[in-house]
Amino acid sequence: MPRAPRQHRATDATLPTRFSCHGELRDYQRASLWLKVNAQTLAQAGPTPVLMVHSSRFDALHVGFFYRDGTADWQEVARGAYGANWRLGGQIAFVPPQRDAALVGVVLRFDRVASAPMLRMRLIDGGQAQIQATAMASMIGAMLMLLALGAVYNFGLAFAVRRQFPAWQGAWATCMVAWGAMWSQFHLFFFPGLAGVVSAQICTALSCLATLLATYSLLTAIDPGHVPRWLGRTTRVVALATALLGVPLSLMRSGPLEFWANALGFLVLLLLVLAGSCLITAWRRGSSAARAFVGAWAVPMLALGLSSVVDFSHAVWGGGSQMLVLAASAWQTVWLSVAATRRFMGMRIERDRALVAEAAAQEQARRDPLTGLRNRRGFTDAITPLLDRVTQAPDAVLDDSQGVALLLLDVDRFKAINDAHGHDAGDVVLVTLARRLARWDGAMCVTARLGGEEFALLATGMGRFAALQLAESVRTGLGDCDHSPFFGRGQVTVSVGVAMARPGDDFAALYRTADAALYAAKHQGRNRVVIAPDVIYPEGDDAAMPIRIGISD
Ligand code: GH3
Ligand code: MG
Ligand code: MG
Repeated sequence: MPRAPRQHRATDATLPTRFSCHGELRDYQRASLWLKVNAQTLAQAGPTPVLMVHSSRFDALHVGFFYRDGTADWQEVARGAYGANWRLGGQIAFVPPQRDAALVGVVLRFDRVASAPMLRMRLIDGGQAQIQATAMASMIGAMLMLLALGAVYNFGLAFAVRRQFPAWQGAWATCMVAWGAMWSQFHLFFFPGLAGVVSAQICTALSCLATLLATYSLLTAIDPGHVPRWLGRTTRVVALATALLGVPLSLMRSGPLEFWANALGFLVLLLLVLAGSCLITAWRRGSSAARAFVGAWAVPMLALGLSSVVDFSHAVWGGGSQMLVLAASAWQTVWLSVAATRRFMGMRIERDRALVAEAAAQEQARRDPLTGLRNRRGFTDAITPLLDRVTQAPDAVLDDSQGVALLLLDVDRFKAINDAHGHDAGDVVLVTLARRLARWDGAMCVTARLGGEEFALLATGMGRFAALQLAESVRTGLGDCDHSPFFGRGQVTVSVGVAMARPGDDFAALYRTADAALYAAKHQGRNRVVIAPDVIYPEGDDAAMPIRIGISD
């Protein structure tokens, strides 16, 4: 049981105003520091007061509640053992037991506390404490959730677009989640043994690490060419120095803690100025990233800068500075996620547009501009895989169901059409014929205009007899076209040469055979179908004449 405090002589100016100290503020880092709640504060705290102490670096804290009837109730927390006293928002609550007698005094004893000026405590009404705890838990939960989502999202983005900046941003958001969870004591749900000093030390280290990660996230997001080299380098060095200073500061238990905390505050301010300069310079030099992301960084930078010069510690029920940093961080991660997504989506849309335009250009290059049919290139591209699949197979046996036929069609005496009605009329005739031919285009047939007044059709999945029938119907179909006002039906005819693919044939070989058949058709009087024989006979042999179907002139 701790000794009852001696009567105090003076209130130390560096302590919270509603608490007074007994004696001189010295050597307490190795011994005990006794504080007493001022009578006026006690009177204002309502009938059911609660003492809220913000978690700090100490070995143990004893709180004594004294009643008018002379009884006292002592409660105690120690590092790693906050029991049921910890509250979200980085606080420890001490609730005096209800007695008939009135509460007349509250005394605190800190054992081996790291810094007296850094202590923060409040004595508030119990009902109020309940509301504050609920509101604080909701706010902290929401902000941690946003930050966690931001972390996952940015890592996903970094992976998807293979860029450095979202990865730094993801690392920063993760660091902030860890910091927020530790500062608010959310982690004590899972690791109650970390209560107190260890958490405070990790928090200091994490906040320094977060500054480093945020700086790298900013520097990698704005294009390097938009920031002078010396400025980028200096900013990196100061960010590293801040992170390094976090190491001794997080390990210190005694000594000039306030001095080093002030040094860290100065470095953070310097870093803010440097990072702000990078951002402004990049903006002025036309960095689109700086413009897109400035809203995200400006808010946390202002928040951080403001909280280092103005003391917000009493706002938001004593969690002011930290809540401000958490809120600004949540803002930053949401803004950056949205802005980065918009930016990368924009890039993607542009790339997709370019791909579509390129595909359209490719398609254009494979089409005949006059008739819209495939040109020779488009035709060979389309049929080569079809042809190869059946003719280049090692055991290719082209029976009736697998046969491939090439039909070459040439308009008869087309020159005379041009001569009689002009080149434009000739074009109209070609377009009409092409439209009619395109009707055969489909899963089994590929059509094309190979050049001039020569068309082609490749048909798959048919034997010789079916190919002949198809060629005949194409010939009659084209011959039946109406070319008014220049020609009536049956006046423009075509000759057709047919070749059946044989194992080993490529397009050139098949074309040669079909062309020979077409030549024969022309030779035999035009407006007819001639199919090349399976076997090429020696020249001069009668049997070498391709089989002929159709009407003679
Ligand atoms: P044949 O029955 O032997 O095929 O006689 P033909 O007159 O059709 O053949 P020839 O090769 O002597 O003439 C083809 C003509 O087609 C010559 C050329 O001016 C014309 N021609 C080629 N391309 C076009 C075109 O795009 N538009 C028009 N209007 N005429 C073309
Ligand atoms: Mg010709
Ligand atoms: Mg011709």
